[in-house]
Amino acid sequence: MSENTPNPQKNKKTGKTIYWVYGIIIMVLVLVQLTMSSGSTSNREISYQMFSDELVSQGLVEKVVIVNNELVEVYLTVKAIQLEKYRKYATHTNFMGEPTPNMHFKIVSAEKFEEYLKEKKIPYKTETRGQWVNTLISWLIFIGITIALWFLLFRRVGAGGGGQIFNIGKNRATLFDQDNQVKVTFADVAGLDEAKEEVQEIVEFLKNPKKFTRLGGKIPKGALLVGPPGTGKTLLAKAVAGEAQVPFFSLSGSDFVEMFVGVGAARVRDLFKTAKEKAPCIIFIDEIDAVGRARGRNQILGGNDERESTLNQLLVEMDGFGTDSGIIVMAATNRADVLDTALLRPGRFDRQIPVELPDIKGRKAIFEVHLKKIKYDPNLDVDFLAAQTPGFSGADIANICNEAALFAARKNKEIVDKQDFLDAIDRVIGGLEKKNKVISPEEKKVIAYHEAGHALVSWFKPYANPLVKVTIVPRGNALGAAWYLPEEKVIMTAEQITDELCAIMGGRASEEIIFGRVSTGALSDLERVTKRAYAMVAIYGLNKRIGNISFYDSTGQSEYAFQKPYSEKTAQMIDEEVKAIAEEAYAEAKRLIRENIDGLHAIAKQLLEKEVIFKEDVERILGPRPKPENYTAVVS
Ligand code: ADP
Ligand code: ZN
Repeated sequence: MSENTPNPQKNKKTGKTIYWVYGIIIMVLVLVQLTMSSGSTSNREISYQMFSDELVSQGLVEKVVIVNNELVEVYLTVKAIQLEKYRKYATHTNFMGEPTPNMHFKIVSAEKFEEYLKEKKIPYKTETRGQWVNTLISWLIFIGITIALWFLLFRRVGAGGGGQIFNIGKNRATLFDQDNQVKVTFADVAGLDEAKEEVQEIVEFLKNPKKFTRLGGKIPKGALLVGPPGTGKTLLAKAVAGEAQVPFFSLSGSDFVEMFVGVGAARVRDLFKTAKEKAPCIIFIDEIDAVGRARGRNQILGGNDERESTLNQLLVEMDGFGTDSGIIVMAATNRADVLDTALLRPGRFDRQIPVELPDIKGRKAIFEVHLKKIKYDPNLDVDFLAAQTPGFSGADIANICNEAALFAARKNKEIVDKQDFLDAIDRVIGGLEKKNKVISPEEKKVIAYHEAGHALVSWFKPYANPLVKVTIVPRGNALGAAWYLPEEKVIMTAEQITDELCAIMGGRASEEIIFGRVSTGALSDLERVTKRAYAMVAIYGLNKRIGNISFYDSTGQSEYAFQKPYSEKTAQMIDEEVKAIAEEAYAEAKRLIRENIDGLHAIAKQLLEKEVIFKEDVERILGPRPKPENYTAVVS
């Protein structure tokens, strides 16, 4: 798209020098290759005796070429070349791909030699070659190849730039604008209500920037959409552009990363320059983690200066444009945790908008959006389809609708019916199973009871963080999640920590009570418990036996890394206390669950049905949450 936009002067310069260097390297390589291959002809000279007595008499000559009446070029038969003796005369090809002669020798009289050949019935040709023509041709070919190689290479690299060599520093964003309208609106994005609400403000701003800036308000420059692949992040960003009717630049983070040094930064500069001309507009960078990974890690692997300079350039550009320039950068990633913290600072991607896998309601809505495009059985039960597809992303569902239509077409049906959808689901599951994303019904039940356990214990533990919602929709590495609203507390009391520990243990406790065994699903729970229990004992001085001592080193220059600041005896005591705390929390969680086992079953049942339940649902089942006042904490 950006073919006709000139590069800024700066990168034009760096661009040129860099690519000339590459060109020269290629030329040298080709030259070396050429001299090497022609150098080997000198030891192919043989004698006339060898030719007539050995080769001709054994019938090993395929043909000969007599050049300028004085030189004979001999081509051997395939059989001859395979013989050990003639290995060193093996056939080569020249740079035109033709075989070169295997050997050659000089003759005095061409006439006599021709007679001899006729007599022996050896096919031959005569040729006149000018020495200078020869040289000229080889030079022309050499130059031709160099140029061809050059173009080939740069056309591939600068594919977006229409094959022009110096376009390599151009950005490769795809532009959707008036001529190429973004027709996606919020109506095309199903579910994702919270995310839509969050981006609504961006739409308002793009529509009418003055309204906001007039009062000195600061507009977000960037928003980061965080969520697993296929959940509609690109779609959402497009919908923002569509709603606001502004141009939309779309590209992937990996487009910046190229094997050539300096390209990424040049592309970033160019992207923002082009965007400024089109402002107000949206720049959408998919997979931003390709450039945005935290700098300075992986130094052992030699670091990645190219990626870092690209990231630096991105930061510079984002700082460089004022909030009134009308450019909003939206980026998507699955891993906000690996991003460089500099990217997340105010004035850059300071908002993170979670875009999660859809729950059963969301899936129904997504089905409805995509069903619009196909002719389907009016009796189709969309709720049923939504229930059949736990853990599926929006992209998976779009895929199912498409596959179902294909199945129906293959069977020459008039409309797409339920069976086609079931077949399509099976097929898509087949693809997903390889990616380890599908949850079996038994697993789903375990997850539901696990999460119900968390919810129940936290409900009855008054100092634990208040519950917001519980889901069994897979999320990142976790299979389900209970969401809490952490109160804004600067300090925590021992009661709060112990109650939290109980709530964390609730998942595992519930699994043990219901299924008689525990699963590996509680790994991160156990990690949290262990860390907190250690913190209680060894850092916050909340344990009676260890006393008011902290082994925390706030300076960070820990000499403790290799040497513990306490004795073996204390170490043993800490371990014992931590274990006691964890076991106590576990026992307490089990007690609470046993006492309220009906509630647990009810919560799990609701979770299996709805996949997401909220505080209100839990309240309906368990009754109002006990207040902290009539509660005495057990701290040991
Ligand atoms: P991401 O960028 O998160 O990987 P995309 O936005 O590229 O995902 O989604 C891929 C496709 O999946 C979309 O083009 C759309 O057809 C479908 N899709 C995903 N999420 C939704 C949704 N919430 N509503 C409707 N369609 C969706
Ligand atoms: Zn858990």
